[in-house]
Amino acid sequence: MSTFDTNITRAARLMHSSHYTVAFTGAGISVESGIPPFRGGDGLWDKVDPSFLEIDYFYQQPEKSWKVIREIFYQYLGKARPNIAHCVLARLEENNLLHALITQNIDNLHQQAGNQDVIEFHGTTGRLICTRCGQTIGESDKINHLIEILPPRCPECGGLLKPDFVFFSEMIPESARDRSFAAARKASVFIIIGTSGEVFPAAMLPTNAKRAGATVIEVNTEPSSYTHQVTDIFLQGKASTVLETLEQALNSNNQVS
Ligand code: NAD
Repeated sequence: MSTFDTNITRAARLMHSSHYTVAFTGAGISVESGIPPFRGGDGLWDKVDPSFLEIDYFYQQPEKSWKVIREIFYQYLGKARPNIAHCVLARLEENNLLHALITQNIDNLHQQAGNQDVIEFHGTTGRLICTRCGQTIGESDKINHLIEILPPRCPECGGLLKPDFVFFSEMIPESARDRSFAAARKASVFIIIGTSGEVFPAAMLPTNAKRAGATVIEVNTEPSSYTHQVTDIFLQGKASTVLETLEQALNSNNQVS
């Protein structure tokens, strides 16, 4: 048996006996959906001037900021669809083998794959929020219609609409932050998938889970800042291949037990 196969079997056994399993995902899980990660990848993010995504700039120049946001996040990345890795996580949740899913991604692909309760650490492009009355709009048809004219305005009060994701210099939404750290503390198994661990405070979640007693499983194509610090079982490979293999191991484990 290869080290990879041995580790898959260990991971499946642990997940089977775990009473609370948490998955924590980053940009790497969406690479196979055609969305490049921040680091490495095809350099898409090098072309985006980060100042357009600064919260102060957004309020000062909403039309200019929205032009970039619409092009990158809605017209270009909006075409992406969930890949096998997203779909495996949705099935694990359905089969009660995954109890919480925390994502740093804003691409809405876990939600599209069918996960019912995604903790959106950095928010999502899948919702607009009115900066005046707080109303949210989540239907993609309505969003696409509203962003035809920039900057989009709230249908209720005429206030400026903002994508409901976290801009640079903006706070992490309190409820997502509190739920994420609570889930990390409760986890018996904590699975990190496709994240470099360089964006804070999200990057503190695996360490918190480990300190509270979780076994940490990591899925990544290459070692990350977690691999030699907190990871107990490193499953090296593309998220879709590894998660599909893990699901098969869980299913065969199920038949045996
Ligand atoms: P990152 O770009 O810093 O790191 C991506 C990680 O994924 C790397 O460790 C890389 O080795 C790994 N990876 C690449 N391809 C993979 C694959 N096929 N399978 C498994 N792993 C793979 O991303 P981050 O740590 O998530 O931090 C970047 C920040 O920017 C986060 O806040 C993130 O949400 C945001 N972001 C989001 C998206 C998105 O919504 N899809 C895309 C880019 C960045």
